[in-house]
Amino acid sequence: MKKFFAVSICIVFLLVIVSCQSNKKENTMINKSSFGKLENGQEVTAYTLTNKTAQVKIIDYGATVVSLTMPDKNGKLEDIVLGYDTPQDYAKGTSYFGAIVGRYGNRIGKGKFTLDGKEYKLATNNGENHLHGGIIGYNKVMWSAEPLEKENGPALKLTYISKDGEEGYPGTVKLEVIYTLTNNNELSIEYSATTDKPTVFNPTHHSYFNLTGNTENTILDHELMINADAYTPVDAGLITTGKLEKVENTPMDFRKRVKIGEGINKDFEQLKFGKGYDHNWVLNGWDKTVKLAATVYEPKSGRYMEVLTDQPGIQFYAGNFLDGTGAGKNGKPYQLRTGLCLETQHYPDSPNKPDFPTVRLNPGETYKHTTIYKFSVK
Ligand code: BGC
Repeated sequence: MKKFFAVSICIVFLLVIVSCQSNKKENTMINKSSFGKLENGQEVTAYTLTNKTAQVKIIDYGATVVSLTMPDKNGKLEDIVLGYDTPQDYAKGTSYFGAIVGRYGNRIGKGKFTLDGKEYKLATNNGENHLHGGIIGYNKVMWSAEPLEKENGPALKLTYISKDGEEGYPGTVKLEVIYTLTNNNELSIEYSATTDKPTVFNPTHHSYFNLTGNTENTILDHELMINADAYTPVDAGLITTGKLEKVENTPMDFRKRVKIGEGINKDFEQLKFGKGYDHNWVLNGWDKTVKLAATVYEPKSGRYMEVLTDQPGIQFYAGNFLDGTGAGKNGKPYQLRTGLCLETQHYPDSPNKPDFPTVRLNPGETYKHTTIYKFSVK
C-alpha cells in the first residue's frame, strides 16, 4: 500500500511538472519564418517572439523590428510600429523604420571628426553631413540571429561585425544586440560591443510608434513627457551647436506630460529647423544606470509607453519627414507625423563637440547600453 502511495505521488508530481512546462511553451514562443528575399536573392528571416499577451517580429536585415503588437485598454491587439511588408522596401527605404542604426546614431557634422590627431572622413548621406551610420549603416546589412529563451521572456540575439573602414570609421567593431519581449510587456534592447582600434560608437533603435494602432492617425494627440531640463539646440542643418539650452518657457518643455500637437507648430526657430520636433533632450541625472527617460500616453487606446535607458540623451523625432510617398505596411503610405521615434543615445555630433560626454570606445573596453520600451494601459 505504502509503495502504491509513493508511486502515485511521484506520478502526480511528474504530471504537474510536465503541465507547467507545456504552459510555459504555450505562453512564450519564438517562431522562425521567411520574410522574403532581398534583390540579390539573399533570404531574410523573421523571428516572432510571443509572450502571453504581446508579440514582436524582428528580421535579421538591419536587426529591424517589423511589427510590435500590444493590447489597448479593451485588450484589443494592434500593431503599434511603422514599417514595410518586404525586405526590398526596407533596403530602398530612407526612414530607418524599426532598425538598429549605427555606427553613430544621428548626425556627424560635415561627415568628419578627428581622433588622436587623425581626421576621419565618413560617408555623407544627409547633405554635407553623415546620418545614422552613412550610406550602408547597420540598418542595411544582414545580422546573424540566434533565438534565446531568457528567464524573463523570449529573446533574439543579433550580432554584426562592422569592419575597420566601414563608412569611413576606424576599427573593427563586434556588436551584439539582444531584444527581449519580457513577460511584463517590455521590449528590452541590450547592446554590447568591442573594438580593435579607438573609434566612436553610438548605436540606437529607430522604431516609429503610433500608439493608436492605426497609422492613419497622426501622433499629435499623443501625450509626451521627457525627463529633461535642457536640450541640445541645432543649426539649420540639424547639427548640434555644442550648447545646452533650458526647456523652460519654450515649446521644448515636456517635463510635464503634454500633447505633442500643442507646441509643434509654434513660432520657435528650433522647430523651424526641424520642421517640428527633431531634437536631442539632455536627460536629467544621467549616472549610467537605467532610469525613466520619457513616457507617451495615447488617450483613446489607453496605451502607455515608458522609455527607460542608461544613455545621456534621447532624440524625439515627430516623423516630420514622412510625406505620404512610398507604401508602408499593407500598401498604405505614411503621412506626415504618423509615427514618433524616441531614440536613446549620446548627443548628436559628439565626436566634434569636446564638451559633450565622450562617445570614444577603446580596445579592451566593452560598450554597454540598455533601453527598455515598456507598455501598459491606463
Ligand atoms: C532624425 C531625423 C531623420 C530621421 C530619418 C531621425 O532620427 O533625427 O532628422 O530625418 O531620423 O528617418
